[in-house]
Amino acid sequence: MSLNIALFGAPGCGKGTQSALLKKEYNLYHLSTGDLLREIRQDKTSPFFEEINEKILTGKLVSDEIIFKIVENKIKEINIEGNFSGIIFDGFPRNLSQGEFLIEVLSKMNLQLDYAFILNVSLEIVVDRILNRFTCTKCGAVYNTKSKPPIAANKCDECGGIDSFSKRSDDTEDVIKNRLDIFNANMMVVKNLLGSICVDIDASRPAKEIFETIKKHLQNKKKFYTLSNSRIVL
Ligand code: AMP
Repeated sequence: MSLNIALFGAPGCGKGTQSALLKKEYNLYHLSTGDLLREIRQDKTSPFFEEINEKILTGKLVSDEIIFKIVENKIKEINIEGNFSGIIFDGFPRNLSQGEFLIEVLSKMNLQLDYAFILNVSLEIVVDRILNRFTCTKCGAVYNTKSKPPIAANKCDECGGIDSFSKRSDDTEDVIKNRLDIFNANMMVVKNLLGSICVDIDASRPAKEIFETIKKHLQNKKKFYTLSNSRIVL
């Protein structure tokens, strides 16, 4: 039995940080569509390169056709590996058709989405977090110049990579606005589609507090399944 979670929120809401914590705690696979797209974007010969590059640089959504392809392939790959207790969907679904697609693709594999956590933050916090954000290009660890600098200035705490830090090309004020508008335009329809599995989380708090809140929800689920004796999830 698996635990499948979607993390939904504006850019800079902390999806990456919470995904990393959830991954460690529950042995989940971290499926970030943003990371997968950035990986493809490294390969200029990819048939998807032009579109992905243009959409990321402008903060617009990459077409569902490409997203469906890469998500379905990845889910199949993860299922085959069989090494994980479930999947964290980070930044997916982002619109109604992606939500419908996710439900369908999981159900074809006898899986289901158990929770969708919506990480709510104010515009002010989002802009501040994004403008100060940088990542390790080797392992994807996320840092913030103000709130979470690495212990040594040029060394990644997670993988030990030296001089491996870089800023995302779409973490600029202009692009943030586009990404936020798109998120706000789609949030309600995705919430309506997923219904009672959606949980609103105040993500303006420190990462550890947010994580504790998410864990409490997951614990409740464990209790529920244990009591009902039908399905033990964790
Ligand atoms: P993220 O790393 O989640 O902030 O995503 C970075 C960029 O990748 C977004 O601004 C979009 O251009 C693209 N992207 C990521 N996930 C999706 C998705 N599920 N659907 C469409 N475009 C996406």
